[in-house]
Amino acid sequence: MSQKTQNPFARIPAVDKVLLALEKLDDLPPLPQPLITNLVRDEIKAMREGVKEGHANVGEFEETVADIRGKLESFHRSRIRPVINGTGICIHTNLGRSPLHPEVVSSLSSIGQHYNNIELDLDSGERGKRGGFLESCLATLCEAESATVTNNCAAALILMLKHLANGERNEVIISRGELVEIGGGFRVPEIMEASGARLVEVGATNKTSLEDYQNAISPRTGMLLKVHRSNFWMDGFTDEPTTEELVELGNRHDLPVVEDLGSGAMVMTDEVAPIPHEPTALEVLNRGVDLVCVSGDKLFGGPQAGIIAGRADLVAGIKKEPFFRALRCDKLILTGMQETVLQYLHQHGTDQPQLPLIRMLSASVDKDLRPRAEAILDSISAIEELESGLVNTIARCGGGTMPKAEIPSLALDLMPKSMGLPQMARLLREQNLPVVGYVAEDRFRIDLRTVFPEQDQIVVENLLAIFGNL
Ligand SMILES: *Cc1c(COP(=O)(O)O)cnc(C)c1O
Repeated sequence: MSQKTQNPFARIPAVDKVLLALEKLDDLPPLPQPLITNLVRDEIKAMREGVKEGHANVGEFEETVADIRGKLESFHRSRIRPVINGTGICIHTNLGRSPLHPEVVSSLSSIGQHYNNIELDLDSGERGKRGGFLESCLATLCEAESATVTNNCAAALILMLKHLANGERNEVIISRGELVEIGGGFRVPEIMEASGARLVEVGATNKTSLEDYQNAISPRTGMLLKVHRSNFWMDGFTDEPTTEELVELGNRHDLPVVEDLGSGAMVMTDEVAPIPHEPTALEVLNRGVDLVCVSGDKLFGGPQAGIIAGRADLVAGIKKEPFFRALRCDKLILTGMQETVLQYLHQHGTDQPQLPLIRMLSASVDKDLRPRAEAILDSISAIEELESGLVNTIARCGGGTMPKAEIPSLALDLMPKSMGLPQMARLLREQNLPVVGYVAEDRFRIDLRTVFPEQDQIVVENLLAIFGNL
């Protein structure tokens, strides 16, 4: 052993030396130099600390450089970029929820690149109402007196609470059966309390009666809240008052009734796909609810936003809340929402809107998915390293909406002959246009319901790239 290797610190290369070695490599990920320098510095620092604590195993210089290059590649991969969704989960929160309509995207591009009239009244030349046109469109779609848009549905909920449950009357009555977690570890009660409202929980998890609500009403009550259980369902010994009964109770006590609908269906889901009916904002408002809030990027099929619709005086009040300014949407989101809602209104009374999400949900296994699947199978059948077939699957709405809805679907059913399924999954994620599938019954599956038809060829190319072009 040389003198050098006995001192573990001596084997840790200098940052500059690693940077120089990296520069000489081909195909380094195209990261800006400051990011590369920072990452190398952090890695060398970590090595130094590892050695200090006695658990680092510092390898040869080439190994260290190769290791750091791998980290640069993985860091570069972590930027937001397109992926192919082969999971069969249509509104996949980890994959950006709803894809947007191409026309929506092209309007984003021209609004983003140029100036626009977001707060200019083109008739008078004076300052205009931000999002005014969009608000009219949404009110029309929901047949509501008024509507507005905010950062997301969680923000919409907070704003409604801020406005309706504050000061001496900051209590909100809600059923224990509706204190749900809406994903990402966020729970309805925590979001609600962040607004300053005080929750008055009534009933039991599986049963809440109208009397439970009634008994909880006091001079401190600000509103009655119903949260749509969009991400789980309860069966068996369950009961709760209808929305109409709650509305009637609210009216008797002069209390507003608000429903957090979340999922954001604007079409009859049961007419689009073989799935249950999901209540729409329009239906809930017709039951007499004062305000409803829904997500923009779930079943609505738009960008991340929260729609608030209902009584004009309440919507106007919410828009005057200081928090409304903090939670407002920017020009790109407002444009995305505007163009998405126009897709609905243009199709009104005729066909379903041609939004990607709705097309995906309504695709037929035999007419739409099977011919595509067979064409893909044809193109990959010559890959010797891969057993391939088709399998009937169940696709899902996802995004915490309609957990019970099972949409019959079709997937590629793949089995690599000389590598494990996790490795195959990883290689597919490492492609230029990564494919995310799933493992089930010891097979790797790519569900075609969530793959756009124009991406079929890329799925084929990725498989050919991984398993060697023969
Ligand atoms: C998804 C959901 C939310 C949160 O919506 P975001 O737009 O993600 O903020 C709130 N309430 C319900 C019932 C939901 O399903």
